[in-house]
Amino acid sequence: MFRALLIEKTPEGGQIVHERSLSEDQLPEGDVTVRVEWSTLNYKDALAITGKGPVVRSYPMVPGIDCAGTIEASSHPGLLAGQPVVLNGWGAGENHWGGLAERVRVPGRWLIPLPAAFSTRQAMALGTAGYTAMLCVRALIREGVTPKSGPIVVTGASGGVGSVALMLLSKLGYQVTAVTGHPEEEPALRRLGATDILPRQALLRLTRPLEKAQWAGAVDVAGGAVLAALCASMQYHGVVTACGLAAGMAFPATVAPFILRGVTLVGIDSVHCPHEERLAAWQQLAELVDPEKLDGIIKEISLPDVQKAASDLLDGEIRGRILVRLAASGNAL
Ligand code: NDP
Repeated sequence: MFRALLIEKTPEGGQIVHERSLSEDQLPEGDVTVRVEWSTLNYKDALAITGKGPVVRSYPMVPGIDCAGTIEASSHPGLLAGQPVVLNGWGAGENHWGGLAERVRVPGRWLIPLPAAFSTRQAMALGTAGYTAMLCVRALIREGVTPKSGPIVVTGASGGVGSVALMLLSKLGYQVTAVTGHPEEEPALRRLGATDILPRQALLRLTRPLEKAQWAGAVDVAGGAVLAALCASMQYHGVVTACGLAAGMAFPATVAPFILRGVTLVGIDSVHCPHEERLAAWQQLAELVDPEKLDGIIKEISLPDVQKAASDLLDGEIRGRILVRLAASGNAL
């Protein structure tokens, strides 16, 4: 038996979420079973657990789009019992039981061997948010944005993706402007590597099709009017990576930045990202992330605390990353 958070549909069409003891026989199909040590609470998990977003595709569902732990049993070539691994996306917590549980069973091709530089706890301190930040930064580099190109702007800077993006960009030598709705977080954002702070409200005042050209690159977690303002404020040939919708799904922009300044808008998807790019992203995270800086952005909780943390996260009450302890023996940082 193992403990898990379970989301079930009610006869009235709503959902209830509770902690349950489940049997390994109930786990979904897959050729690898993992003893989970750490999971995290991502924005998407919060939407699933609170029922505020259409994340869960089938019920009952164990939420959790990511986790890290040790392989308990495997018939997958190249993956052996005892090996530490990381799971991100592929539908975990959406249409396949996910990581907010003491066990997951998944197809082995979904798993990434844990980079040697990280403990399972450190990997989940980064989690899908950190791995997505890395995908954004890799896309900026792939599109030719270098530290000499000009400053980079990061939105949602006090959140999971944003805080890791600040760390990565500053480590790579970029000048980084942090956009935040929490200006009181300025000292923490500067410690992570922000060189300038821009209140979100100031960015939202940039509503013309083209604004003053300010940034060479952008990492955007917000979408909506925030993404539109960023596009309008990019330098000639600037590159915007868009990964999130914290401000909404809409994109109230014009084509002016694209046709008059040659701006590139790059979409970032972590869920179905090809295996090779995942491996490269995790490897680069291992090279760039300073584990001591992770301590400053994590809060540790356990399974019974997850529901409260999920609604706090959607209410904007959480800074940085929420780490969920699943196995008492999870590696320490
Ligand atoms: P968090 O909740 O940790 O952080 C989101 C941050 O966005 C908040 O901390 C806040 O930062 C900012 N924010 C909140 N509300 C608004 C708003 N209305 N307008 C502008 N900014 C706002 O979430 P994550 O960092 O984990 O995820 C961020 C986004 O990225 C989510 O939409 C998530 O779904 C998406 N995502 C997408 C992935 C992909 O594969 N494409 C993978 C991972 C995440 P501040 O107060 O500093 O402004």
